[in-house]
Amino acid sequence: MAPISSTARIDPHTHTTVSDGTDTPTELVGAAVEAGLDVVGIADHDSTAGWEEAADAARDAGIHLIRGAELSVVHHGTSVHLLSLLFDPTAPELTGQLDRVRNARVDRAHKMVDLIAKDYPITWQGVLAWTTEGTTVGRPHIADALVESGAVANRDEAFTSILASRGQYFVPHYAIPAQSAIQWVRAAGGVPVLAHPGAVHRGSVLSDAEIAELAQAGLAGLEVDHRDHDAVTKVRLRNLANSLGLLATGASDYHGTGKRNRLGENTTAPTVLGEILEQADGVSMI
Ligand code: AMP
Ligand code: FE
Ligand code: FE
Ligand code: ZN
Repeated sequence: MAPISSTARIDPHTHTTVSDGTDTPTELVGAAVEAGLDVVGIADHDSTAGWEEAADAARDAGIHLIRGAELSVVHHGTSVHLLSLLFDPTAPELTGQLDRVRNARVDRAHKMVDLIAKDYPITWQGVLAWTTEGTTVGRPHIADALVESGAVANRDEAFTSILASRGQYFVPHYAIPAQSAIQWVRAAGGVPVLAHPGAVHRGSVLSDAEIAELAQAGLAGLEVDHRDHDAVTKVRLRNLANSLGLLATGASDYHGTGKRNRLGENTTAPTVLGEILEQADGVSMI
C-alpha cells in the first residue's frame, strides 16, 4: 500500500447500503478508485456492518480505507451526527449503544410508516424491500417507498414534504447522549468528529458554546468542508475549530444515488489525516 502523500485526496465520510447509501461497500470502494481518491472512509449510520466487505475490497483495489461510523447522538435536545473514525468495533459500551440505536430506528420507522400509511399508499413491507438484512433503517428508506408509490418524485422531495423533521409524520428515535458518545468513542480508541455542524437546513444546530462543551468532553474535530455549509459558515467553523484546538476536516458525505453529494467534492488535508491517525488506537487504517 502506498504511503499517504502530501497531495493525497482523502474523503473520510461516505455511506453504503449498510445504511442509507446506494452502493454496496464493494461498489463504494470501486467508486472511490474511479473518483481518484487515495483514502476513503466508510461511515454508515450507527453501524460497522460494512467494514469487513469494504476492507476486503480496499485491499484488492490498493486504496486506503478508514473504518468509521456516523453516530446518532443528541446534545441539549439537538440531534447531531458524530463521525467516529477507527474505533474498536468490539468495545462493549459503544457496541451496545449502536445496537440500541439501530433497534430504536426500526421501531421509529415503523411508527412513521403507520402514520404515513393513513394518507399515502405505503406499507412496512414496502419500506423493508429497500433494505437488506442488518441495514440501519432511516427516513431515506421510507422515502424510497414513497417514490415507488408515486407520492413524491425523489428522496429530496420526500424530505422537504412528508418526511420533514418538523412535519406531522415525524417521530424521533433514541440517540446517544453526545458527551457519553464522545467518551465511549475515545475509550474504544476512536477519533470523534462533529459531522456537518453548521447544516442549518436539517434542523437546529449546536451553538458555539455547546460545541465547546463537546470539545471539553474529548471531541477531536469539526467537519468544516461539507456541502451543507455556505462560505460564511465554513469561516465561522474553521475559526471555532482553531480556537478550541480541534481539527478541521472535510468530506463528501456521499450516499451513492441517494443524494447529490459526489465522492471527493470535499476532502480532508493529509496533515489532518496524520493527526487523526496519531490519535487513533482502535483499528488501523487499511
Ligand atoms: P434519519 O436518520 O432516519 O432521521 O434520516 C436522516 C438521514 O436522511 C440523514 O442521514 C441523511 O443522510 C438523509 N437525508 C436527509 N435529507 C436527505 C435528502 N434530501 N435526500 C436523501 N437523503 C437525505
Ligand atoms: Fe444519511
Ligand atoms: Fe450526517
Ligand atoms: Zn453522513
